[in-house]
Amino acid sequence: MPLLRPAAAPPVSLQLAKNLARTLRRGHPWVFADALRELPPAPVGSPALLLDLRGAELARGIYDAQNTLAFRVCSIVPGVALDEGWARRRLEKALAIRQSLLGWETTGFRLFNGEGDGVPGLVCDVYAGTAVLRMDGLGPEAFWDTAGVADWVAGALGVTTVWERKRRGSGGESHVLIGTPPEAPVAFTENGVRFTADVVQGQKTGFFLDQRENRERVRSLAMGRRVLNLFGYTGGFSIYAGLGGAAQVTTVDVSKAAIEAAGLHWKMNGLPRAGHEGVEADAFEFLEQAVREGRTWELVVSDPPSFAPNKESVPAARRGYRRLLTACANVTAPDGLLCACSCSSHVDLPMFLDLCEQAAENVGRRAAILEMRGQPFDHPTPLAMPEFRYLKFVLLRIE
Ligand code: SAH
Repeated sequence: MPLLRPAAAPPVSLQLAKNLARTLRRGHPWVFADALRELPPAPVGSPALLLDLRGAELARGIYDAQNTLAFRVCSIVPGVALDEGWARRRLEKALAIRQSLLGWETTGFRLFNGEGDGVPGLVCDVYAGTAVLRMDGLGPEAFWDTAGVADWVAGALGVTTVWERKRRGSGGESHVLIGTPPEAPVAFTENGVRFTADVVQGQKTGFFLDQRENRERVRSLAMGRRVLNLFGYTGGFSIYAGLGGAAQVTTVDVSKAAIEAAGLHWKMNGLPRAGHEGVEADAFEFLEQAVREGRTWELVVSDPPSFAPNKESVPAARRGYRRLLTACANVTAPDGLLCACSCSSHVDLPMFLDLCEQAAENVGRRAAILEMRGQPFDHPTPLAMPEFRYLKFVLLRIE
């Protein structure tokens, strides 16, 4: 089955109005509308040929005249056609990376990470026998043939179900591409830890696979410590902490379903019931009360949703992070550990470290960075695209 939808016409010609040739040659895969000389009308997702200022061929990619992100690079190799052979090679390469690096104890992973795998806008997460496809934008949706990609994934991995997850506001409804619609959360393992992912109702594609190796890190830090997992979702960090020998684990999330799943995951991994407390609450309110009561934990994990969905919201996001990190520092026991996370690409690492510093200052304690971490290998990013490295995990020791 084809991986690409047939193009209605030959590639659209686009020309740069800004000199981005070097940036693109270095591997940055995006061109915004204001960097193009003209925006010729063409169906969304049309293949396009990008010319530099002088009119020489620079790249081939996906065009969306309606989007500020107007052009996404598929290839910068001159003369390479965006055909079935090209698409197949890209998918094979992405699979080969996972096959060579993934441990056998992990059946939940990201197979395609869009631009990071040279497959713009195409995302696929795998949970054992179920794969979830997600298209990032209308251009990629019209460019990739989802049925064909699903068929390829099923053939390559032997998955029996492929579910397409639509983003809210993108028009279509989520639906099954292969097999039958998943009726229950899907069981899978991560570093040998047992979880389920609700691929239909859950957040993202059902699980936050990007934190996998950071969760493993938390397992190795947990021994004998009392652990607080804020914005815990379905208990990812909590279960690892429990398995790592934590004295006690508290998971906080506003979502009732998430807290219930966290309890289930705790049990599924054979951990003693008394060791886990699931709290359905707003993390900020929970922290305020904990501070009032003088409660502290030796290991605190804070992994909130993005506070800055766009550039305009950065000032508000900074205030949010500062308030949150201050409260986190306040409930971290003397010489305790704080894992401060942010998944906001608009708040970069230097800015985030600055916010951590301000939080330590606010509580009048010295903090040291023990480690800085990010996304795992199955979430690759183009080297030339720092904004794709959204995940920050900073391990701090608070005196
Ligand atoms: N650490 C998790 C992923 C966290 S995702 C993991 O490893 O799987 C962010 C979570 O924050 C979501 O589950 C969401 O329900 C929760 N959340 C959002 N706002 C919140 C708030 N104000 N208080 C508590 N939880 C919140």
